[in-house]
Parts: sequence; structure tokens; C-alpha cells
Amino acid sequence: MATPLGARRTARPATTHPLPATGARRQVLAGARVVLPTGTVADGRVTIEGTKIAPEAPHGAPQGALVDVSGHWLVPGFVDLHNHGGGGASFSGSAEDVLKALHTHRLHGSTTVVASTVTDDMDVLVRQAGLLSELAEQGDLAGIHFEGPFISPCRKGAHSEALLRDPDPAEVRKLIDAARGRARMLTLATELPGGLDSVRLLAEQGVIAAVGHTDATYEQTVQAIEAGATVATHLFNAMPPLGHRAPGPIAALLEDERVTVELINDGTHLHPAALELAFRHAGPSRVAFITDAMDAAGIGDGRYLLGPLEVEVSEGVARLVEGGSIAGSTLTLDRAFRRAVTVDRIPVEDVVAALSANPARLLGVDDSVGSLEPGKDADLVLLDEDFELKGVMRKGVWVLDPQLA
Ligand SMILES: [Zn+2]
Repeated sequence: MATPLGARRTARPATTHPLPATGARRQVLAGARVVLPTGTVADGRVTIEGTKIAPEAPHGAPQGALVDVSGHWLVPGFVDLHNHGGGGASFSGSAEDVLKALHTHRLHGSTTVVASTVTDDMDVLVRQAGLLSELAEQGDLAGIHFEGPFISPCRKGAHSEALLRDPDPAEVRKLIDAARGRARMLTLATELPGGLDSVRLLAEQGVIAAVGHTDATYEQTVQAIEAGATVATHLFNAMPPLGHRAPGPIAALLEDERVTVELINDGTHLHPAALELAFRHAGPSRVAFITDAMDAAGIGDGRYLLGPLEVEVSEGVARLVEGGSIAGSTLTLDRAFRRAVTVDRIPVEDVVAALSANPARLLGVDDSVGSLEPGKDADLVLLDEDFELKGVMRKGVWVLDPQLA
């Protein structure tokens, strides 16, 4: 099995305790390979106090309940920048739907999730932004990502063509206002009339301007980055391909150090060679693995809705009933992790950066999540030697209990 970082550790003596559902006052997860910002520590320890990661107790002081997690990897909880739903529910639905989708993704390791909307009527989006902002206020969501309606009809993917429109800074502002400080990102086709002004407005307002569902040329994309765009929405998907005379948005987004590129690593959206090309070129600090998941994530095949459009999921691949466009993914980030390590052979530390540290930094929440450091939230993922998910802790509580007792 793939253990790229060397030999299996030797077991250290550790007292095992059953894990209480709400977490002991102080517990120490001991013996795992722990991935820290400085590298991987074999036989590492993570101390948890209440909802936070705590510094190790000084020598001789009580350590807390020792939990043996030897034979596992311990990595930070995943941060998903771009996600439309899961568990049969959507972030475009009711509060109950949103929480259901959120819970599904938490069970798969995503302890921080931004809710993505899809193209719809402005009124609908404004209303949904209000609902999602309340859930962000409560700490359930990390914010809102508006995908559309300001995208290109040529690259609409699974967005409803009749509802697309040119970017209009006044309408962009309306969405930002409706999100009451919780708008984190907006994906737009920056080459459309009003595109660059909208990018400038977003940047001014501290909302990430993401280039996506775009038909822009290389030159137009460079202009968008100069205007303040800092993210490539699912690089390669819903944009012109990389051509040798017309390099298009992909080259512009990959070459600029200021841009983080989203990648959907489900084996369907990207050929492994395309993924490798992007990862190598951008480097591990500029990649964010996302799910772009829709309702079927965490459930399975069947018929679903993506915003107003009908989607058929077959063998885990979601396609529009009409036209057959790929319509989001059924990916969860634990699968993206496992695939990145075992299929793409990306070093574990780089995969952790792409799943946690980079998106946390981009969202400006890296003071509380994104790495296993004292003072941050006790958000962590426990994987076995084969990188199968075994446990998920969020704010000191096991969402998925590894049953280690
Ligand atoms: Zn999306």
C-alpha cells in the first residue's frame, strides 16, 4: 500500500481510553503520523483542550487522557471553497437542507465549508444569500460563494442559460449586501461587459473575484488578474483549453503567483496528466482542491436538481439530463485526498496544503483553521495507513467517531 513517507512507525506504549462523545477536558491523540506546517512528525501528539488545539503540557504536568491513534495519519480538517451540496440536499435549499448537506461533507472530513450557489434569478439569489448568511453567522458555514449568474453563455456548464447576464457592478453589490458580510467569493466571466469593473468592486469589498465559466483570451485574463482576480474557478473546466497559439485563461491563471487554482480531483473532471501539469506549475501553495459537489455527493446515483436544472447521476458522474454537460461532482474531500496521494502520487504534505492550509489562507480564516497548531480549532481528520477516512473531529468533538477504544 502507498506509504510514501517511509516505513511504518513502531508502536509506542500508550494507554488507550474510549473517546467520550463530547471530548474530555484535555485529551492527547498520540502515536500517529501528524502532518504539521513544518512537515510530518512520526509518532506525533496533538493535545486538545475543549474546542481548541493546545500546547503540550510541560514535562511532569498532567497531560490529559491519552488516546492511542498509532497506525494512523492525523491531518487538519479539510476546507472546501466550492461546494453546492451533498447528502441529497443542496445549499440552494432550506436551512434544513443546508445543514443536511453540510453534515454529509463533515462526515467526509470537510470541517470548513463555503456554500456555493448556482445561477438563478437575482431575487432568488438575494433571498438565499440572506439564509446562508445566517448560517454563517452561527458558525456553520464559512461564507458564501456566488457561482453565476455573471458567466459566459459559451461556457455555461450546468448553469441555466436563460438566467445568465453580463456582470453589473450594481448587481454584484446587491449580492454582496444580501450576504451581510459573509460573501467570500464570486465566480464571473471577466471578459463580459462590466466584468473588470465588477472585479475591482469585489476586490475593494474584500470578496474574492474568481475567474470561471469564462471564454476569455489569455490577454483578457491577464487584465482580470491585474484588476484583482485571485482565484481560478475549477481550472480547465468551463474555460477554453490550453492552445499553443491561443493559451487562453489557463496559462494566464497558472503563471501568475497571485492566483490560487481550484482543481476537482475526482478522476472525471480532469485527466491525471492535466492535474499534474497544474499542480507542478502552480506549486503546492497555490492549489486548492475543491469538491464542486452537488446533492448526490455522499449518496449515489439517481435524479437530482442543480438549481433549476435536472441532473442524472450515473456511476458517480453527474450530467445534465438536457445536453449531457458535467454538472458538478459527487466528490467528497476525503476521496480527493486519497486519490491525490495514491493515484497522483502527490506528497502528503502538499495534499494537506491543497486541502486545508491554502484554502484557509485564501478565505482569511487561517488564524483559526487550516493546520494542526496550538490555538487553532481542534478540526482534524484521522486516516488509516491506506488513507481511508477513519475519524473527523470538529471543534474538539468527533463528528465521525473512529471508535478507537
Ligand atoms: Zn460549482
